[in-house]
Amino acid sequence: MEIHRQKYFGKFGGMYVPSILETTFDELTQAYQEARSDPAFWDGFAQYMRSYSGRPTPLTFAENLTGYLGGAKIYIKREDLNHTGAHKINNVIGQGLLAKRMGKKRVIAETGAGQHGVATATMAAKFGFECEIYMGEVDVKRQRPNVFWMEKLGAKVNVVKDGTRTLKDAINATFRDWAYSMETTHYVLGTACGPYPFPEMVAWFQSIVGKEAKKQILDVEDRLPNHVYACVGGGSNSLGIFSGFMDDKDVELVGVEAGGLGLDTGKHAARLASKDGKIGIAEGMKTVFLQTEEGQMMETHSISAGLDYVGISPILADLHERKRIRFEAATDDEVVEALRLALRKEGIVPALESAHAFAQAFKEAPRMGKDEIIVINQSGRGDKDIFTVADALKDRAWEDFIIQKAEEYRAGR
Ligand SMILES: *Cc1c(COP(=O)(O)O)cnc(C)c1O
Repeated sequence: MEIHRQKYFGKFGGMYVPSILETTFDELTQAYQEARSDPAFWDGFAQYMRSYSGRPTPLTFAENLTGYLGGAKIYIKREDLNHTGAHKINNVIGQGLLAKRMGKKRVIAETGAGQHGVATATMAAKFGFECEIYMGEVDVKRQRPNVFWMEKLGAKVNVVKDGTRTLKDAINATFRDWAYSMETTHYVLGTACGPYPFPEMVAWFQSIVGKEAKKQILDVEDRLPNHVYACVGGGSNSLGIFSGFMDDKDVELVGVEAGGLGLDTGKHAARLASKDGKIGIAEGMKTVFLQTEEGQMMETHSISAGLDYVGISPILADLHERKRIRFEAATDDEVVEALRLALRKEGIVPALESAHAFAQAFKEAPRMGKDEIIVINQSGRGDKDIFTVADALKDRAWEDFIIQKAEEYRAGR
C-alpha cells in the first residue's frame, strides 16, 4: 500500500515535525491508513464503543425547547451519555486500538482542561498501557478534580513548568517525550489538530457520531435536518457530527466558537468567526491561529476550558474557506443563559463547551419555520463545570459549602 505523507487540506495542514520524529510519523500514517482500509478494524471499534461506552448515543427530540422557542424542530445528539461524559472517548478508544495493533506498550497525551487526560487514562487502564499525561502547572492548579481522577486511574501526571505553563507547553513536552520513546509509545493527540495524520485520524474516529446521527434522524423524520450545530474547540466533535452530512449540500453546518467577553474585546477564542485569526505554522500544522498584528499568539479567553485554544483544525480552516461551514461565536453570557434554559426546559446538563452550540441554535431557531429541523451536538455533560457555573450564577449556598469544606480540612490538620 502506498502511504500518503504530509497531507494538506486545501492550503492547511501538513506535517511539520522535527526530523527525529519523521519515521514515527511514517509508521503511524501507514498503520492508520491500513486500519482505515480494513473494514474489520472499524467494526471492532464500533463494537467496543457499544459495549464500553454505551453507543449508539440517543438522538433526543427536545419538545419543550421546540415549543418554547416557537420555530424549528430541535433534536439533540447525546454525546454527554458516553462513558467519561463526552465525545472524547471515541477518539481515545480508536487510537488505543490502533496503538495495540502497532504493538505499543505505553501511551502519552497532552491535556489542557484535563478532560482528554482523563479519557486517555481511562483507555490506558482498560487496555493495560502504561500512561503519562503532560499538563501545564497553571492548568493543574485550575483543574484539580481531573488530575485527581487521572492519578486514581493509574496515570502519571507530569506538571509542565515551561513557558506560560499551559496547553501549548504541555504539547511541546509531549512531543519531546515521544522523540525519545517512539519505539514503545503512542502519542494520543486529543483533537483534530497537529501534524498529519492526526487531524484526519481523529476526525475519522469521531465520524461515528455523524454516522449515527444521520441514521437516527432519517429513522424518526424520514428526511435530513436543515441545520446542524456544534461547538468548536480543536474541532473534533464538530467534524464528527458534520461528517455525517458533509456531502448533503442542503444541510447547513454551523460551527460555534468561544466568543468569550465579545469579539471586539480581544478576549475570546474565535479563530474563524473573528478578524483576529491569521494563518501560521505551529504545533506541527499550518492553520489559522489567533495572532496579534505582530504575529504573536494571542491570549485566549473562554468560560469553557475546552474551547479555550489558540488554533483550530486545519480541516475546519479549509471547510471555512470553501464556505461549507458557517462559523459563529457565542459569548460567555449567552452560554450561561443557554445552559440555564437547557436545564429548565429539557432536564439536560450540557457542558459549557456544548452550551455554545445551544446558544447559537437558540438565537436562530425562533426565526425558522416549524417545518425546519435542527440537530445540536451535545458534546459532553456539565457535571465537571460545577465550580464555574456556580460562580457564574453566583450561587451563595455553594460558596458557603466550599468555605465550610476548607475549614473542616484546615481543622483536621
Ligand atoms: C474537549 C471538549 C470540546 C472541544 O474539543 P473539540 O475537539 O472541538 O470537540 C467540546 N466539548 C466538550 C464536552 C469537550 O470535552
